[in-house]
Amino acid sequence: MNDISGFMRDELLCHGAALVGFGDLSALPPGERAGMPVGVAVAVVYPGDVIRRIANGPTAEYREHYDRLNEKLDMLVTLGADALKALGYQAIPQTREVVRRGANAGQDAETLLPHKTVATRAGLGWIGKCALLVTREYGSAVRISSILTDAPLKTARPVDGSRCGSCTACAEACPGHAVLGREWSAGIPREEFYDAELCRTAARKQSLAGFGADISLCGKCIEICPHTRKYIIPSASRPDSLGEDAPDR
Ligand code: SF4
Ligand code: SF4
Repeated sequence: MNDISGFMRDELLCHGAALVGFGDLSALPPGERAGMPVGVAVAVVYPGDVIRRIANGPTAEYREHYDRLNEKLDMLVTLGADALKALGYQAIPQTREVVRRGANAGQDAETLLPHKTVATRAGLGWIGKCALLVTREYGSAVRISSILTDAPLKTARPVDGSRCGSCTACAEACPGHAVLGREWSAGIPREEFYDAELCRTAARKQSLAGFGADISLCGKCIEICPHTRKYIIPSASRPDSLGEDAPDR
């Protein structure tokens, strides 16, 4: 790791990031990455007990943490981009405001480059059958953001394939039948394994029933994932079956 990479990682971790990774974006079309060759992926993590308590539906507490983590991510990527700019590099923090401005400017993508693409390029995890990032450390109990930059950061080996294997837990538990069952691999269109509209509709019903708000926040696929459960359930009370094979939510 060169000095800038170590500095950036330490800076983000000491301000509250749970995971930080650097991804080589140069194989992607320049127009999809604002001409920047490197992505910084940042993940923050839900407390395990908050996720445990959404087993029967989303809660007001879960929504509060969702909002709080989004604010924390905006702070972290802004801080990280400012640090890179102070060193003389270009850096675009993909905050919610930057994303909104991009959408208002008529860009197709919700972000300049999806955070999940940056995260997989940075080796943080793979995309699960439910279209969420799955990390080894926390499963899907994370929220993520990213920075696009031309800083010469030491990039990780990307994750190009799913590690879901034969697991179908999220597909079976999804109240909207939005998880189609196919495994992700880098470059396949999301529509081939996950139906965002079915998810949105079901998640809205879950939010209304769970905490009375007309938003789309469900989270069942986060809670049910064996990789999340390895994080949220103490190992002594975890069934043996939780092994390695194993829109807003
Ligand atoms: S958030 Fe809920 S509705 Fe959407 S895919 Fe996950 S389990 Fe299904
Ligand atoms: S529940 Fe199973 S199939 Fe779904 S993302 Fe997690 S490991 Fe993959």
